[in-house]
Amino acid sequence: MRALSAAELLDVWERGLAHSPAQRALILLALACDETPVEQLAQFSIGRRDAQLLALREQTFGPQLASTTICPACAEQLEFNVDIADVRATSNTELEATLDLTHSDYDVEFRLPTGLDLATLDPGASVETNRQHLLRRCVIIARSAGSEVAAEELPAEVGAAIAQRMAKADPLADVQIALACPQCQHTWPTPFDIVSFFWIEIHAWANRLLREVHSLASAYGWREAEVLALSPWRRQAYLELIEP
Ligand SMILES: [Zn+2]
Repeated sequence: MRALSAAELLDVWERGLAHSPAQRALILLALACDETPVEQLAQFSIGRRDAQLLALREQTFGPQLASTTICPACAEQLEFNVDIADVRATSNTELEATLDLTHSDYDVEFRLPTGLDLATLDPGASVETNRQHLLRRCVIIARSAGSEVAAEELPAEVGAAIAQRMAKADPLADVQIALACPQCQHTWPTPFDIVSFFWIEIHAWANRLLREVHSLASAYGWREAEVLALSPWRRQAYLELIEP
């Protein structure tokens, strides 16, 4: 993996705008991990994909994740900081290729969902429809009393058991951050999704950068590529000269 230049990150932002979060994740990784074929990146499990995205986030914006949330007990607004290293610690580096589950009369062999599986989901479809779609893609074979059963015919509780097993086998796919409210001492876990977190940051960064390009291009007559080629420090120094 390599760090992305300002011009490349701006390009990713522009291309990603029209796409779903799962597709944005693939666009980002395809550029940063250009030594790995994109077909291979698309087959990474969600946890493995997210480990790569966390590493890229660290290279791009640093090792600290800062966010705000509302305490569910007392409605106090609080800021929290998490180290990427702490999130990564939940990662399971030895992922099994296939998993087995025996639940009541059912024996199911399945694999973990990949970034490509998520990219094929319809953002407009219901959660249930997308859940069934994922199950159909990830179940390799299911049997009940010796006869083969289609993934869509599995009872809901077997589907839920498969989802639980997937989460356990690929813990980084479903990161929960433990929070504590300084006001009322309430503690609770909050889900953390690196794809949407990183995208919100890239979106804010891109808007800020375009404003900077506009200011510098207007003041000095430079082209966009010339402004983007400046280091952030040099860009800032010129901005301060024109905006005293
Ligand atoms: Zn509270």
